[in-house]
Amino acid sequence: MVTDPALIALGVEYFCNRDDDLWSLPDGDLKALAIRELQQIDLIDGDDVVKGTVVRVPKAYPAYFGTYAEFGLIRAHVDRIENLFLVGRNGMHRYNNQDHSMLTAKAAIDSIASGRTDKQNIWNINVDDEYHEERDPAAA
Ligand SMILES: Cc1cc2nc3c(=O)[nH]c(=O)nc-3n(C[C@H](O)[C@H](O)[C@H](O)COP(=O)(O)OP(=O)(O)OC[C@H]3O[C@@H](n4cnc5c(N)ncnc54)[C@H](O)[C@@H]3O)c2cc1C
Repeated sequence: MVTDPALIALGVEYFCNRDDDLWSLPDGDLKALAIRELQQIDLIDGDDVVKGTVVRVPKAYPAYFGTYAEFGLIRAHVDRIENLFLVGRNGMHRYNNQDHSMLTAKAAIDSIASGRTDKQNIWNINVDDEYHEERDPAAA
């Protein structure tokens, strides 16, 4: 991601709603905020920053509220379409991480290769798994 191996690309995420002030903060102010906060936690020296880019991602997270309780209706409908395999985070409207998303893709490929048309193996992913980013108590 960087042209010079001596540099590193550092991603900083801010979470907000679209009507929050943070969403409409000018790019320059957002970058300044990130640099200031990264400095405050001693992660960087602000003078070392070469450049920054702001990407605003609306609807970044699958929402489990509103009409979500009726999600089963949609699932039942699309599951009937034999050659349609919904995978990934937005495809399944599920809070999958990258590992889950790739597993769902692999399960879909297995199904297609073996002629399986029910989608249960895909929907079973990220149901009972422990979340991979749990904090290690020993590292506290
Ligand atoms: C802010 C944020 C932080 C995250 N942090 C982590 C993390 O630290 N670790 C982790 O494991 N996971 C993390 N995730 C989750 C991870 O990004 C997703 O689980 C993963 O990227 C989902 O993969 P996907 O293939 O389902 O979808 P995506 O990666 O979203 O890929 C879908 C692609 O389809 C394209 N697309 C959409 N519509 C169309 C269309 N009509 N035609 C053509 N192309 C289209 C999109 O542009 C996109 O490139 C994070 C997600 C977010 C939003």
